[in-house]
Amino acid sequence: MDPEHRPLTCPYGHSLEPGATRVGWAPCDCPPAWAGHKGHRTYWCERCRTAGWTSISYNPEHVPADGVRGRHPR
Ligand SMILES: [Zn+2]
Ligand SMILES: [Zn+2]
Repeated sequence: MDPEHRPLTCPYGHSLEPGATRVGWAPCDCPPAWAGHKGHRTYWCERCRTAGWTSISYNPEHVPADGVRGRHPR
């Protein structure tokens, strides 16, 4: 997996450039996460945070398993 791969924009269209993004990690057992490093790299949009919203992008994308075992990584 390309460690430099990251979402380009948050769900609200802000650019997720270095300095406007807080990068974190969320352990998860959904299929895309389990196929990689057992978790997601998370990207918090600082511009949304400044506006009072919380938007987090995941790499790889978060997919709840079967919609039953799925749990949101938080
Ligand atoms: Zn944003
Ligand atoms: Zn996940």
